[in-house]
Amino acid sequence: MNGPSLLNSHAMIRWVALCARFMREQQAYLTHLDSAIGDADHGANMTRGFDAAEARLAELAAPAPGEVLATTGHALVTSIGGASGPLWGSVFRRAGHALGDAAEVDLAALAHALGAGLAAVMELGSAEPGDKTMVDALAPAVDALHAAARDGAALGEALDAARRAAEEGARLTTPMLARKGRASYLGERSVGHLDPGAASTALIVAALPLAWRGGA
Ligand code: ADP
Ligand code: MG
Repeated sequence: MNGPSLLNSHAMIRWVALCARFMREQQAYLTHLDSAIGDADHGANMTRGFDAAEARLAELAAPAPGEVLATTGHALVTSIGGASGPLWGSVFRRAGHALGDAAEVDLAALAHALGAGLAAVMELGSAEPGDKTMVDALAPAVDALHAAARDGAALGEALDAARRAAEEGARLTTPMLARKGRASYLGERSVGHLDPGAASTALIVAALPLAWRGGA
């Protein structure tokens, strides 16, 4: 499928708006997941965060893609009380800063920016892949983007690959033992449940190809 080979600020704003929509639509599901191995607030946290981000973006005049992401990160940190606020906030802020003030983002730049975001959350949460966290969905998505960039893939193809990788990564958290966050307090009882943060991460990554297809 042909489409633009770049993401501009309209596409980035659409990404955040779609994240807000997906969080609202899946709020009960995310809360259900967090009620099994956490404190049942993940759906409310993510919905509040992305709604705040969408509102904050509406106040900006003509932001560059990097500013869209950095503003989103700031809104997530300041509006979410739970662990996911600072964690997702640092992903978006670091990714936004990595993009600088470029007007358009190609696949290599996106892979680099989300890679920087992943590094930020791993640093802040001291989580590694396999700890049953959002990192288990985000890391495979970033790997897929880097691999697609190396292979010279088209942007749409790369975003679809990232979506599939995040979904598979989230699915694979079910048999894992939680080593970080509230779920880790449960020890062995965390096994057999999908991690809520990995599930919301898969939604955030799934919103990217849709935002890109929304037009230039
Ligand atoms: P809280 O745990 O404060 O209630 P949320 O319910 O919003 O916050 O988010 C929980 C999710 O945050 C978990 O499912 C997990 O994916 C992610 N998470 C928690 N702690 C960490 C950490 N140290 N590193 C990475 N991700 C984490
Ligand atoms: Mg929670």
